[in-house]
Amino acid sequence: MCTICNCAQTNSKPVDQKIPIDSSKNVSTLQFNDIPDTTWTEPIVKSNEEWKKILTPEQYYITREQGTEKQCSSPLYKTHDQGIYFCVSCNNPLFSSNTKFNSGTGWPSFYQVYSTKSISVKSDNSYGMSRDALSCKRCGAHLGHVFNDGPEPTGLRYCIDGVALRFAKTDQNETNSKKATFAGGCFWCEEKTFEEVNGVLSVISGYSGGRTNNPSYEEVGTGTTGHAESFEFDYDPSIVSFKDLLKIFIASIDPTQVNGQGPDHGSQYRSIVFYRTEEERKIAQDYFDELNTSGQFKKPIAVELTKFTKFWPAEDYHQNYVKLHPDNPYVQHESVPRMNRTKAKLPSYFKK
Ligand SMILES: [Zn+2]
Repeated sequence: MCTICNCAQTNSKPVDQKIPIDSSKNVSTLQFNDIPDTTWTEPIVKSNEEWKKILTPEQYYITREQGTEKQCSSPLYKTHDQGIYFCVSCNNPLFSSNTKFNSGTGWPSFYQVYSTKSISVKSDNSYGMSRDALSCKRCGAHLGHVFNDGPEPTGLRYCIDGVALRFAKTDQNETNSKKATFAGGCFWCEEKTFEEVNGVLSVISGYSGGRTNNPSYEEVGTGTTGHAESFEFDYDPSIVSFKDLLKIFIASIDPTQVNGQGPDHGSQYRSIVFYRTEEERKIAQDYFDELNTSGQFKKPIAVELTKFTKFWPAEDYHQNYVKLHPDNPYVQHESVPRMNRTKAKLPSYFKK
């Protein structure tokens, strides 16, 4: 559902949801003519009729009618691939993936523009809000808004409609990040905890370890699908190792609890480390053996070690749940304390 909106854009007119987002058109591999050109001197001026001919109805609505896309709808929202984000209308380079960050708002967010020729800012008092609207400096396309609550070094959060962007991936750095998948009880709690870990790029809540395809939350909740609430994340192994991630994971749960975590009981809340390679399996097995012989826990480690096969992302309304539902009693009494306990045990692994 993702109903709470840090962009303060929910009062904007709704996107016609009959128009689907075509993710394939928004992502492409960097081609020769994708080399960011900041040498242009002339703006691009076209009539509305001309823009309509080259843009999809959705792109036209966002860029020329100051529309806002549905929260969490853009496939570019959680992408952390390396590349350049161009204006979908005129190919002006707008942002580098190096300045993209996880804002938890549901829209692609950046803390810095690509160049001084990327973006114009003007105040926008529509919908009873006082905001700074962003447009492409070259063609005037509406892109989103900028806010003063971004991360260092700029402190800015450029909140952008993914529909207004064309992302061109650079191939070279694609192998830099790795994926890992764990299950540790309620996925809201684990997603939030791991989003705070240094070197973790993005986290998704979902289901894994079971027998059925495309499981729903309700189906998994019956305990009969074999799936456990899980979370999958991309991480930079030059910053945080698989062993470090295991340490953080074990610190975040009671690894001796069988078929449950905290107040949640049932096989859908069991703990699992999914391994993708023999090396990962051995690191995890050695670590569990070490924990079992250390006497650190009074009972044996109950975390399963399972070969990874498939991860099914959970429904949209489960993504970023803790960030979007700070007043939820479960979030306040379980998720946030779990994150804080984990941070207190291993502070050096967490973002400042
Ligand atoms: Zn443009």
